[in-house]
Amino acid sequence: MICVSLRAENAQDFLSQMEMARKSGADLVEIRADYLRNRDELLTLIEAKPLPVLVTLRSVEEGGQFEGTEEELFSLLELAASAGADWVDVEWRRYRPFSHGQSRVILSWHDPEKTPEDLSKTYEQMQQIPSDLIKIAVRVHGAEDFLRVLALQKEAQETSTVIAMGEYGEALRILYSRLGSKMTFASLEKGAETAVGQLSISELIKEYRVGTIDSETQLYGVVGNPVSHSRSPELFNQVFSHLHLNARYLRIPLDKPEFFREVVSALDLQGVSITIPHKESLVETLDEVDPEVSQMGVVNTAVAKEGRFCGYNTDSPGAVESIREAAVRRWSHGLYGMKVLVLGAGGVARAIAWGLMKEGGRVTIANRTLERAKELSSDLRCDYIPWEQRGDVFPQVVVNGTRVGMEGEESPFPKDRWKEDMIVFDAVYTPRWTTFLKEAKEVGAETVDGVSFFLRQANLQCRHFLGRSIPMELRRRFESV
Ligand code: NAP
Repeated sequence: MICVSLRAENAQDFLSQMEMARKSGADLVEIRADYLRNRDELLTLIEAKPLPVLVTLRSVEEGGQFEGTEEELFSLLELAASAGADWVDVEWRRYRPFSHGQSRVILSWHDPEKTPEDLSKTYEQMQQIPSDLIKIAVRVHGAEDFLRVLALQKEAQETSTVIAMGEYGEALRILYSRLGSKMTFASLEKGAETAVGQLSISELIKEYRVGTIDSETQLYGVVGNPVSHSRSPELFNQVFSHLHLNARYLRIPLDKPEFFREVVSALDLQGVSITIPHKESLVETLDEVDPEVSQMGVVNTAVAKEGRFCGYNTDSPGAVESIREAAVRRWSHGLYGMKVLVLGAGGVARAIAWGLMKEGGRVTIANRTLERAKELSSDLRCDYIPWEQRGDVFPQVVVNGTRVGMEGEESPFPKDRWKEDMIVFDAVYTPRWTTFLKEAKEVGAETVDGVSFFLRQANLQCRHFLGRSIPMELRRRFESV
């Protein structure tokens, strides 16, 4: 059941939002009556409801706006029940028996700040109070919190809905029914959230097709920190839908690599894309890695095979293929003997530098932190230069493997050093047209953008996940956006 949580200051606005929620496919709407300026309007509102309603007066202590007395609270809840509210929400800390007629009762507990230590103990206490559903919504700040909340949902099953507020809790909001919960809360649209981390109803229905997630659904995801910029969920969910596969791809933020295996197994993930900043740190946690991964020391894909988690790298071949093709287009020959400047020494820079050296390129590394450039050049047996000298080496290929360009207009390469016969590659793909690429294009250099690279490496990843490529039609559609 998807419950769209609504906030408005008057009945008119609530009613138009309720109609929108109904059209969007909501099963239930939550009227956050604590936002209502004139609470006498509650009656008219419930009487005109176009779909089932849950009436909530969330207290300030639990993240809402209601500051009234207990008397006021229970008289409003009784009024809502007598007017025909399908559900009413009462916070367990304020609970006392009240007359709720045919309305079902949600007994709730919210901690908008943290994941409290006493989760299970409080849940046990809440079970002593008669209710139709227990709702526990706590703020999660990392994978460890998320795992605790997830475990509680698995234990509680359909008697409760457990919500992990914040970006770390997204998977729980999507997989709620598979994990045993009856209800998930959504916003009407982006920007209209009533709690942090809520997804919009259209994301839940269109992107994640939550209504058809079941125990057979194969789960995949992108693991990293941050993952909000990743376009992999959008791409892979389109692939699964296009191929009529019962599979979903999720965003899974991971702050500490030590929780990787626990998260993967708690969510029963079949495959993951590994992104910033874990591409190097997770190599050690896998059961098996491809020989190329052992050589370069970077993993960006992991797949479950007969209970073992196996690692691969698709960034390296994806980038090398794109750069090689650009070289053939521009120079009519490949990369052998070409002078390559790789900017960055993180996961993607390491994988690309390794691949380009294998291709015969003469690689030099420049990285903001000199120590990391030194370490990478010593591992790969190539040259390095201080970051400040990156404009002085006159390369034939320039690769941006840093994060510069993801925010703001900054470029990692000096504008006055571009040359027309260069090949220029950017790993950054949000935004697609970075200042780095725009300036290189202006002088006529051959450019490879991050979206083309993303699609190549995702295509190789898709082969590891599904044993087949991304359908060409989808690749073209994605490329043109
Ligand atoms: P990472 O391991 O965290 O490495 C980040 C790199 O960026 C480091 O070399 C870091 O230098 C450098 N850096 C960060 N901020 C900088 C700044 N202000 N000035 C100069 N250098 C800076 O990340 P990653 O996984 O390699 O990813 C790097 C980029 O590639 C990200 O934008 C990511 O989205 C993109 N990427 C795209 C694709 C795709 O499919 N298109 C695939 C993979 C990655 P320090 O060592 O000094 O911190």
